[in-house]
Amino acid sequence: MDRREFLKGLLLSIPAGSALASLAANAPLGRASPAYDPSKHLYGMGIQVDTCIGCGRCMVACKIENGVPDLPIYYRTWVERYIIQTDDNVIVETIETGPGKTPRDFAEKEILRTFFVPKLCNQCKKPPCVQVCPVEATFSTEDGVVLVDEKRCIGCRYCLQACPYGMRYIHPVRETADKCTFCYHRIMRGLLPACVEVCPAQARIFGDLHSPASPLTRFKRFHKIDVLKPALNTEPKVLYADLDGEVR
Ligand code: SF4
Ligand code: SF4
Repeated sequence: MDRREFLKGLLLSIPAGSALASLAANAPLGRASPAYDPSKHLYGMGIQVDTCIGCGRCMVACKIENGVPDLPIYYRTWVERYIIQTDDNVIVETIETGPGKTPRDFAEKEILRTFFVPKLCNQCKKPPCVQVCPVEATFSTEDGVVLVDEKRCIGCRYCLQACPYGMRYIHPVRETADKCTFCYHRIMRGLLPACVEVCPAQARIFGDLHSPASPLTRFKRFHKIDVLKPALNTEPKVLYADLDGEVR
C-alpha cells in the first residue's frame, strides 16, 4: 500500500460508534471535504496553559476516538499537574481520570503556584522520529502532521528512543508505534481533533498556520509563544502560551 492509499484509508476510518460521532456533525470547522488538498494547509495546536483546569476530558476523548488502550500507561495526550512549592521544590504528576480519581492534596501554605500542562506529540517540523525510522513507516504529511503507517511499522522502537518528548508508545495489540495524529482522519474532513472538541475551557486551539483567519494564527499573534525544548531545534508545532520556565 502506498502513502496515498494509507491516507485514503485514514479518511474512511472515523469510528462509527465513536462517542464523538454526534459532536463531529456539529464541529465548528464544518463539513466533509472530498477535494481536500494537503498542500494548502499546515496544522498546529496552541495550548493556553493558564486556561487549562485539569479536568482530563481531552485524555478520555482521545482514548475513545483513537482506540488507545484503556490502561493508565497508554496515552496519545495527557495533562501534567505542576506544583511549585514555597521551598522551590517542583512536583510534576500526570492527572488520572475516572471514578474516584482525585488529585493529591497539599497544604495551601506549601504551594506557591500550581497549574496544568497538556502534552501531546509536537508534530515537529524537523522530527527525529522520522529520521530514524528504518522502514519509512513514520513520515511527515504535506500538511505538517507526523503519522505512522502501522502496516509498515516493524515495532523496532527506534522512534520511541529518538523522540525527545516521550510522545510515543508501542500499541500492545498491534505491536506498532503509536502517538497523536492531531486526529488526522477528522481534520482532513474539516473537523476538530477530539481533544479540542471536548475541552470545556478552550485551552486547546487547533488551526491552520497557513490561514490568516485561523484561530491558531490569532492565538500566535496575541500571545508570547514558547515550545518545549526549543534548544533541540525540532521546531514543534504545538505552541504554548503562559508556559512556566519549569516545564520541560
Ligand atoms: Fe516525532 Fe516526538 Fe516530534 Fe512527535 S514530538 S514529531 S513523536 S519527535
Ligand atoms: Fe485542560 Fe481542556 Fe484537557 Fe480539561 S479538556 S484538561 S481544560 S486541556
